[in-house]
Amino acid sequence: MRFTLYRAREWKPSRVPRPAMVNGTEYSGTSARAVAAVANLLVFAAGVATWTSAGSPVVRAQSSPPSTQPAHRTPSVVIYLIDTLRADRVGVYGSKDGLTPKMDALAAECVLFEQASAAAPWTLPSITSLFTSTFLTEHGMGTTASALPDELKTLGQILAARGCRSAVFTANAWSGRIADAKRGYPRYFVQKPVYDWNRWQEWFSREAKSAFHAYVHTTEPHIPYSAPLDFINRFGPVTEEQRKDANEKMFNYVRNRPHAFDRRESTLTQFSEELAAIEAEAMAPLPAMSTTIRVLYDAHVAWADENLGRFVQYLKDQGRWDDCLFVLLSDHGEEFAEHGGWMHAQSLHEELLHVPLMIHFPRGEFAGAKISDPASLVDVMPTILDYMGCRAELAQCRGRSWLPRLRGEPAAPDASTARVVAVRHNTSRADHLFRRTRGNLNIAVREGPWKAIWNVDLDSLELYHLQRDPREQANLASADEETAKRLLTVAKRFMKNEKRRVPGRVAEKLDRKSEENLRELGYLGDDAGNRGEKENRRQ
Ligand SMILES: [Zn+2]
Repeated sequence: MRFTLYRAREWKPSRVPRPAMVNGTEYSGTSARAVAAVANLLVFAAGVATWTSAGSPVVRAQSSPPSTQPAHRTPSVVIYLIDTLRADRVGVYGSKDGLTPKMDALAAECVLFEQASAAAPWTLPSITSLFTSTFLTEHGMGTTASALPDELKTLGQILAARGCRSAVFTANAWSGRIADAKRGYPRYFVQKPVYDWNRWQEWFSREAKSAFHAYVHTTEPHIPYSAPLDFINRFGPVTEEQRKDANEKMFNYVRNRPHAFDRRESTLTQFSEELAAIEAEAMAPLPAMSTTIRVLYDAHVAWADENLGRFVQYLKDQGRWDDCLFVLLSDHGEEFAEHGGWMHAQSLHEELLHVPLMIHFPRGEFAGAKISDPASLVDVMPTILDYMGCRAELAQCRGRSWLPRLRGEPAAPDASTARVVAVRHNTSRADHLFRRTRGNLNIAVREGPWKAIWNVDLDSLELYHLQRDPREQANLASADEETAKRLLTVAKRFMKNEKRRVPGRVAEKLDRKSEENLRELGYLGDDAGNRGEKENRRQ
């Protein structure tokens, strides 16, 4: 079998509408000079000092007891997901660049999770973890060909059973893999960009008269970088030619990583020097254009922030904000060569795992609280369900509810404070550039400032102290054997108890619209789907 380099497809900017009017005023663009300061963010102290941190990941039931407070009547639930957003580009997470004034202001109305991890380093497994509160090792959604096991319920299914009208507004077709009609989302709108809010407003005014559930998924700041050029130029000089070139080179790289996104996976089970060389060749031009790429990325973050601000303002103008349980998060970050790679999926390092997570509870309850213990996106669903009093459904959840902490209730005693927060599975066994050092299966464990990454195939461990070494440069596994052993034990116990559904069951073929959308985002090679099928038939 011979693999050839994909030719860089000419990148053309797609038509990017200005954000539609969401509050009756035409978009005019605001200054990107941000006011990043968030007024009076309170440090939430009650119960923090004595409360044990996260529970053992091997406990099958939810590790924190449901709150003892009475359940709230069904609130409206909005999951607003900004794809590919690194926490360190957000003001309230430490960025000084003023990219996210809207998010920073929103944080004051929310509970802010300072140490939230994506549960996987790329979209499909991450959003499946978010909407089922299970890890990739259990839900098995690791490739384009994966299907969600029927017995796992999604958040949408549970909320639909509570009478919520639900809809998805997404610019990333992976959403359709977990949020379709039979999964509790009868209305599904895929559009790029998602910021053309007309459909949202139309649906909202028709369907959202009582409790509703919306899952909004933007693709900014994911490639291709497509915000208006005059907007981008507030952050640095970038010509149309430079933008086109950067998008083409990024696409070329992602298309030449025959990785989990590709249907060829079943044919690529061995390490290949040839494929590693192709990946390296496609990556080679990126470092030289890293300044341009960072400007484009930052501008895209600011663009996403502006549009988030309009969405929230719309809910406020409609008088629905107070009743809304609104979750803002990202599904994973983005790497700019911090550990030798670009884009996402290739590791469990912080540039890919550390994501913003903030939750606005109805009537501003707990506003200003900060959670500094490690959280994971698998915690979002149990926290929502606990708030709503959906106790029976908590049994599926591998994450924890943070409500007992927020309410200052004593948590159940727990011998282990370390927990698994993320899983990476290179299902294709073909991310060749990193395969020899990272293997195919990695488990991330957090305990306070400690973070361990277990390489299951090689049975090796990396250990980092994130407070002292946020960039994960000094592996302390040998220097602190005791901590390494403690975290490794948690990872191994987790694997022993997981259902191991990877690589998972095979789903139906992608429909044409989804395939087109995913190709536009760089996930699929030009002939990936067909070639994989032909090759499979030949075997
Ligand atoms: Zn994503």
